[in-house]
Amino acid sequence: MASGNAIRGIRVGSGPIRADERCEPVPSRVVTYWCANGHRVAPLFAADVPAPTTWECPRCGQPAGQDQLHPPGAPRAEPYKSHLAYVKERRTEAEGAAILAEALRNLRQRRGEE
Ligand SMILES: [Zn+2]
Repeated sequence: MASGNAIRGIRVGSGPIRADERCEPVPSRVVTYWCANGHRVAPLFAADVPAPTTWECPRCGQPAGQDQLHPPGAPRAEPYKSHLAYVKERRTEAEGAAILAEALRNLRQRRGEE
């Protein structure tokens, strides 16, 4: 009678749970962040880990900082700008054309077309 053996051994989520394993309290601290919308988030960090300067607000997704009065700016509130628009802010049309030409030349060289 081998029927049933095929599914034996599949134990979903049946790994040993040992709650007492490594359960000493780790020194920890709360770091409070505020986002630009005034939301407060206070994640817990291990005491020996440097807290990041910003934290993503779980409520609105904006970056939150540790300075309540000066939360990080809200980059997503700006009107959408394409990558090209940013490039055009920094470069003139002529520079852009030269850069594009050089990039195309490099690309063709890598492909062995020249
Ligand atoms: Zn928020």
